[in-house]
Amino acid sequence: MVDETGIVSIVAIEPSYCHQCGAELTRREIHGRERRSCPDCGHRHFRNAVPAVDVVVRADDAVLLIDPVARDEWELPGGHPEFDEEPANAAVRELEEETGIAADPSSLDLLSAVHSTHRDRHYTMITYVVDYSETDGTPTPGEEATDVEFWSIARILSSPDATRRIDREAIETMLDD
Ligand SMILES: [Zn+2]
Repeated sequence: MVDETGIVSIVAIEPSYCHQCGAELTRREIHGRERRSCPDCGHRHFRNAVPAVDVVVRADDAVLLIDPVARDEWELPGGHPEFDEEPANAAVRELEEETGIAADPSSLDLLSAVHSTHRDRHYTMITYVVDYSETDGTPTPGEEATDVEFWSIARILSSPDATRRIDREAIETMLDD
């Protein structure tokens, strides 16, 4: 009998081998889903959505986008909270790293929190909005971006090949508010 009180790992991608003891994992149903479980030590591996944060920096009818080094589409600045970090703090940290724009976490308004998939990853995307006038600094690309630019909202919404669907949906949510 496998010990149901044992340790659980939260994973974004299901591993083949146990994080605890290295044994090959098997699949079995736990809490209504088939999950990877260790036949040797009972360690269970729960696949969960990874929290991610984005910031819409709005200047009238324009929004700040970055051209990421690693990807083809322009996107909202953002990233992932560290394990011990508040989401709004992560959002302003990522914003400053990627665009040179500084904002106070208290100046961010929560816009949306939605499920998102990208390649084989699943995210809980938390999107904030801040008015450009409440930020400091000049848009300057950080190490992870080739360029930083204000795009008009009309251009973003009419550029499905150059921008991310999740970003366009966040901006449409903002316009509906
Ligand atoms: Zn194990």
